Amino acid sequence: MRDLKSMSKEELGRCMAELGEPAFRAKQLFSWIHQKKVSDLEDMTNLPKSLREKLKEGSRITRLKQETVQISKLDGTRKYLFSLSDGNCIESVLMRYRYGNSVCISSQVGCGMGCRFCASTIDGLERNLSAGEMLDQIDRIQEETGERVSHVVVMGSGEPLDNYDNLLRFLQILSDPDGSNISQRNVTVSTCGIVPGILRLAEERLQITLALSLHAAEDETRKKLMPIAARYSIREVLDACSVYFEKTGRRVSYEYSLVSGVNDTEEEARRLIRLLRNRKGHVNLIPVNPVVERGWKESAPAAVLRFKNCLEKNGINVTIRREMGRDIDGACGQLRRRHRMQQGEIRRQGEASPCRTMTAEERNE
Ligand code: SAH
Repeated sequence: MRDLKSMSKEELGRCMAELGEPAFRAKQLFSWIHQKKVSDLEDMTNLPKSLREKLKEGSRITRLKQETVQISKLDGTRKYLFSLSDGNCIESVLMRYRYGNSVCISSQVGCGMGCRFCASTIDGLERNLSAGEMLDQIDRIQEETGERVSHVVVMGSGEPLDNYDNLLRFLQILSDPDGSNISQRNVTVSTCGIVPGILRLAEERLQITLALSLHAAEDETRKKLMPIAARYSIREVLDACSVYFEKTGRRVSYEYSLVSGVNDTEEEARRLIRLLRNRKGHVNLIPVNPVVERGWKESAPAAVLRFKNCLEKNGINVTIRREMGRDIDGACGQLRRRHRMQQGEIRRQGEASPCRTMTAEERNE
């Protein structure tokens, strides 16, 4: 059965042609689904009854079911658990910022990338999400809160570039003026660093922001945290990000989750400075959100600050990402995981070393 919510305007156009309908019906249908957020064909009053009947036969419109919502007492962040038509569950997060409401969506059920600090990947990849399932996370949250969502980050469970075609369809529908009409400039897609996917995305010339989960400045350290690092070296993935910048003019964000004693040392900061010195981009630091099953410890606030100061003093754009929803299983995959719960053990690790400004010579090593 085809899902009308997952179809681009062009695809709906072809569908209308097959049903012997005039082309303008595609735009009407598209705007009912994505602008007016209607998920029942009966409510689409300007479509002829005969068309509604024809559509009902072979199609459906994805609609997620809200299972739970957790609301952070710290910052009002809302974390949702939605169930899909096949019974799988996914999670999405609403964060309220001064500049507007931002929704973090999942792109897959589970994840196959295996990052060692991440809860989403513990049970591997279950399946890809369709474009409609990605879009509906945003629509359901807008409906539940009655507030407009202005920003979207594809930073929930799953690797978006491992679900490339659906991701692209999602991005196109999301930013279509006849659809949700969210500016591409307000959309961020985060990847663990699948090089061919980054290069392909660069060719699409979209105006979205690409975020790279870097998390280390040296291949050996990165391999300890992220299996994908064994496939592509840091140099290869940063070069792909440079291509992305050249083709789109969009600066890349580098995500860096600080793990105590693993990637938060002064040495690692200095390596990072050397790597990023001549690249257009921005580093987002966040202390790793400890996941019981994973056994990593987050860097202490002082270590985070030292790491940031070290980058800043050496000319790297850097911010410490405001942590949100720490009290409500805020990190990737934690809520879904808790839903299916198992427990592990926490291992403690050492403290970070202090940091100082590097000499020009050291920066060029
Ligand atoms: N697969 C994509 C997007 C999903 S994860 C990616 O890898 O980028 C979104 C971000 O959260 C990534 O930077 C990821 O590395 C990070 N992340 C996952 N679990 C985390 C945790 N427990 N603490 C801190 N950051 C985490």
